Amino acid sequence: MVSFPRTRLLRSFPIQASVEPPHDEPRLGARNVAGMAVTEALEADAWAAADAAQVETFRAEYRARFAGRFYNGRLHAATTFGIGLGAIALGLSQLRRVRRPELAVVPAALVFGNLIEWLVHKELLHRLRPGFFVFYSRHALNHHQFFNSERMTFDGPDDLRIVFFPPFAILASIGGTAAIGAGLARLSGSRNAGLLYNATSTAFYLLYEAMHLCEHVPETSFAARIPFVAFMRRHHAHHHDKRVMVERNMNLTFPLADALLGTLDRAASQS
Ligand SMILES: [Zn+2]
Ligand SMILES: [Zn+2]
Repeated sequence: MVSFPRTRLLRSFPIQASVEPPHDEPRLGARNVAGMAVTEALEADAWAAADAAQVETFRAEYRARFAGRFYNGRLHAATTFGIGLGAIALGLSQLRRVRRPELAVVPAALVFGNLIEWLVHKELLHRLRPGFFVFYSRHALNHHQFFNSERMTFDGPDDLRIVFFPPFAILASIGGTAAIGAGLARLSGSRNAGLLYNATSTAFYLLYEAMHLCEHVPETSFAARIPFVAFMRRHHAHHHDKRVMVERNMNLTFPLADALLGTLDRAASQS
């Protein structure tokens, strides 16, 4: 079993005193500096190899755990997106004479959804909170063991089980959204505002699922070559580095909350 400390990893490798520093480095202490750099590189390599082996072991065990049980990844996707799109269509069909100021709810709901995505990911999916173990287990103990930053793609539709949330999650999201939408309608005196909030928030949930799927599809897929998707794939791949996963790149749709709240690792998202 490998543990994953945040910074320094294994300390068992000796400093390579025979390694010569590059010619343009200062001579004072350069031998030690070079030796430490080699040691850290070896440590990083050893840790990466152990992490890669653990991912492969976890994948085999995870698939064996569900072998023989009925699962259809495309049906899973169709159920989630069918429920979400149905709820959006139902809500939009009830709009009546929308006034321009009411449309401001749409961008506001997208920003709010991005903040909620950040908060839930950081505080419920990566931290063990009383009453929310299922969130932590599904994400930190399973999703992050199945994918690491070097092994980000799934191998077939059966692996979608560990990419998408289960269908009950979108029902719970629609229920929570409806409660907030009803409160907004009452406070603002605008039924349209509540309906627009509900539709936008459910659309954001589907955007989350779609983007997360795109962040784990094979590199050869069409979606992976779309520039913004490619950017978010790098952003999310860095988040899958176990050394930083609890504190970096918590957004999956667009990195607004990461930028606002200081968890964005810009360098890791560059090509
Ligand atoms: Zn992921
Ligand atoms: Zn995560």
